Amino acid sequence: MAECRICAGEVDEFFDFGRQPVSDSFVTPETAGSEFFFRLAAGICTSCTMVQLIEEVPREQMFHEDYPYRSATSAVMHDHFEAFARRLLETELAGDDPFIVEIGSNDGTMLKTFRKEGTRHLGVDPSGQVADFARAEGVRVLTAFFEESTAREIAAEDGPADVIFSANTTSHIPYMDSIFRGVDALLAPDGVLVLEDRYLGSIMAANAFDQIYDEHFYLFSVSSVGAMARTFGFELVDAEPLPVHGGSMRYTIARPGVRTPKAAVAELLERERRQGLASPETYRRFTEGVERSCTELVRLLEKLRAEGRTVVGYGATAKSATVINYCGIGPDLVPFICDSTPAKQGRLTPGMHIPVQPPEEFSKPYPDYALLFAWNHAQEIMAKEQGFREAGGRWILYVPEVHIL
Ligand code: SAM
Repeated sequence: MAECRICAGEVDEFFDFGRQPVSDSFVTPETAGSEFFFRLAAGICTSCTMVQLIEEVPREQMFHEDYPYRSATSAVMHDHFEAFARRLLETELAGDDPFIVEIGSNDGTMLKTFRKEGTRHLGVDPSGQVADFARAEGVRVLTAFFEESTAREIAAEDGPADVIFSANTTSHIPYMDSIFRGVDALLAPDGVLVLEDRYLGSIMAANAFDQIYDEHFYLFSVSSVGAMARTFGFELVDAEPLPVHGGSMRYTIARPGVRTPKAAVAELLERERRQGLASPETYRRFTEGVERSCTELVRLLEKLRAEGRTVVGYGATAKSATVINYCGIGPDLVPFICDSTPAKQGRLTPGMHIPVQPPEEFSKPYPDYALLFAWNHAQEIMAKEQGFREAGGRWILYVPEVHIL
């Protein structure tokens, strides 16, 4: 059995997707085949309940100069971060000369509200191009991996942070021991570490198997984040369900005894117990669900091809790498995928090498069906692409099961 990266307990593997490419390695026709491959398998720690990958991808293979993901491409995420930034300004950051650090600040979508309000802030992100987008917004960014040494440098230069915030990033970082030593060095005595991430409970409830990919090293729950905080000398004091990304959770962590834990923590732990989030039966059902979804999706795509229907992919998301490569979907079934991220356009998806085109190609002419890989932004995309439905187009989704809308 593998050893838990959080508590050194035993990790019980529940699914093996086999050899998979790094999910954001969009290649050119010339570099196709140069993708880094690894064994994508997930398990649950029998001690602390943390769901995690069995094999770790070297961080430089994922986060580098050309890392393509940009938070600002979703208007919903933009508004979500702005609303939370405003809430922090009225609460945790309401004191004298407050200071906020963001781990994984990406293109500065969250921090630009603090820049506008003149609040001291610092983003930390190792991916050069996205950090430059943040700088262009006037956001202060350090291009580096956050870890213990980075945190000590920031503490020495800027002083303690009242809030350390991180969204959709700490789950990407296997070395949480170093992260928490860094938080300990940087966080003010009564400060808070706020983490937001995809929620294991939502993933299991929706059989959202494509949320398992290289970057998502951990899938957090209230139970496992509480145990992680305790392991590294902190305490989980609040948890707040969020609707974004198909179901997320915001966790507030403080030094032990500094804050009274909110009732939500115990309530959500009880809900997780009832859902069976630590039970092997849940993972057995999940495994069956993955196989069923893949079989049905490929069968549907083959049937549509046989009938002469046109199908285009929508959203060359990182998580689409899992469904595309595990189900074996190539350009013969989905000739191209539309995506609004310029860095992905004109490139080929990792592994199966489906071409990525700008969204303008979607309507030239509209296909009969669009396979929605960005299902976590379904509402936003369907509202934007009303013309597709009006032209008779139908959406194909595979979460929570294969269905046509
Ligand atoms: N926080 C943004 C959001 O929620 O939209 C960006 C999330 S993006 C999926 C993950 C980001 O984490 C990337 O910009 C990546 O470069 C960054 N990242 C990965 N490892 C990191 C580390 N050790 N320290 C800081 N940032 C890191």
